[in-house]
Amino acid sequence: MARYTGPVCRLCRREGMKLYLKGARCDGPKCPIVQRQPAKNFPPGQHGQRRTRRPSEFGLQLREKQKVRRFYGIMEGQFRKHFREAERRGGVTGDNLLQILESRLDNVVYRMGFADSRRQARQLVRHGHFMVNGRKTNIPSFLVKATDEVSVRQESRRREYFTGYGEVLATRRAPEWLTVDSTNLSGKIVSLPARDQIEVPTFNEALIVEHYSR
Ligand code: SF4
Repeated sequence: MARYTGPVCRLCRREGMKLYLKGARCDGPKCPIVQRQPAKNFPPGQHGQRRTRRPSEFGLQLREKQKVRRFYGIMEGQFRKHFREAERRGGVTGDNLLQILESRLDNVVYRMGFADSRRQARQLVRHGHFMVNGRKTNIPSFLVKATDEVSVRQESRRREYFTGYGEVLATRRAPEWLTVDSTNLSGKIVSLPARDQIEVPTFNEALIVEHYSR
């Protein structure tokens, strides 16, 4: 399964905004986006400082799509698949797309507080530490539904990572569309999130729809 393995802060610098890819470090003073003077916040790479041209319409659409894709840590093929599904569902495609991205198992595990970042959540899921409705599920792109229950497998609870994790979980705040039981290391999807319940940086989903509709 393909995934990006390069430096992640570089992705934020490329998009010119915090994408919160590194967990706690992103809120601290060590975040390069905060550390660098505004004048030094240019895109990465040898020619980063030279890119001063006004972006084309295509460029704007592409950047918006890349931002969202990188925020959720998904490769292009998978992202396109989610977009086609969003189109198929009817209604507002941009809203559907964000709802689908939010209902991915790796994102749900992260939102429930079982991991510091989506990247870490993805690894925990891939290593088979979670169950959905009592069944071991190790597919990060698995889409959960309302009323589904996500829990840590019994075998995994003995692992060092999950020992005493209930206390960590109790200090974390899950979004309103999820409930978390820190004692049982489990959580439930109350309902799939509406657009205004999804906490993301400022994204313009309409540009993504335009990008794929070309
Ligand atoms: Fe790096 Fe996080 Fe800052 Fe992005 S938000 S630049 S991932 S520390």
